[in-house]
Amino acid sequence: MSAGPVTLGDIYAARARIAGAVRRTPLIPSPWLAQFAGVPVHLKLESLQDTGSFKVRGAANKILGLTEGQRTRGVVTVSTGNHGRAVAHMARRAGVKATVCVSNLVPENKRAAIRATGAELVVQGRSQDEAAEVAFELVETKGMTMVNPFDDPFVIAGQGTIGLEILEDLPDVSNLLVPVSGGGLIGGIALAVKTARPQCRVIGVSMENGAAMYQSLKAGRPVQIPDVDSLADSLQGGIFLDNAYTFRLVRELMDDLILVSEDDIAAAMAYAFDREHLVVEGGGAVGIAAILADKAGRLAGPTAMVLTGTNVASPRVVEIVNAHRDWLDGLAQLKRP
Ligand SMILES: *Cc1c(COP(=O)(O)O)cnc(C)c1O
Repeated sequence: MSAGPVTLGDIYAARARIAGAVRRTPLIPSPWLAQFAGVPVHLKLESLQDTGSFKVRGAANKILGLTEGQRTRGVVTVSTGNHGRAVAHMARRAGVKATVCVSNLVPENKRAAIRATGAELVVQGRSQDEAAEVAFELVETKGMTMVNPFDDPFVIAGQGTIGLEILEDLPDVSNLLVPVSGGGLIGGIALAVKTARPQCRVIGVSMENGAAMYQSLKAGRPVQIPDVDSLADSLQGGIFLDNAYTFRLVRELMDDLILVSEDDIAAAMAYAFDREHLVVEGGGAVGIAAILADKAGRLAGPTAMVLTGTNVASPRVVEIVNAHRDWLDGLAQLKRP
């Protein structure tokens, strides 16, 4: 199975290339979610990944694959936060200069984390697409290499390494719930998993507010939609109108795409903290949201989901947990299986 230029071989190559630079994250069972879903549910904890999200996998694969000339000219990227932080982190490790372009929508905690790595931060515009204009200009004028947040074969292959790890830990995985924004993550994972287990359903989850991939699939081509505020800030941003890889990959390999509401996401973050003792950011909690809100459809067989990131300011988490106190107390009354 291949997505044009991305193959299973690329994902194995990525795994070898990034092995020393990223963490192999645990896959843990969740008896609580299993009770809701009626099937075993496992959580892939990319929230424990270096830099607090899985994005460091794709960034590492791209940056460690640069030529000497590319390394000298530096890298540039556009990001809703986590990718920028991952690129900044990997660039510093590799001794490469990095510039990260973000829009005004990116939360301050994520901006501060990018600055703290020594990368140059450029804040521009009201959407990822507007911030991207600056990044593409730097590619043109300074010859910097773009580390695209999703639409790049190296990045897709890097994210796909998560699929290899899930298959090793749960060989009979039958459903996979994966958060979707630009589609690099689900594209890479689906490519890895479906090769070994074509019967495994790969289900995407996005937020109702501003799901660019969902709207693009509906339209049959990449469309631009306005970025709107969401608790799942890491899932904001378009899929780029000149999308070369992920739109096709997602259209071919994803079985279903579920949308969850802001309330569903908040409840999922509160659940993760209270029941699993995990801090999961909004974009990382949409898989939990789909199960708790009973939007994942009928699941048959072992199910895994990727908790993609942990980068949310702690006062925000405390606020959300407190707002769900009564609901959480109700959950705690349920008998643990
Ligand atoms: C980027 C990101 C996603 C979505 O990944 P895509 O490859 O853009 O679909 C999901 N969760 C978190 C926490 C992210 O940072």
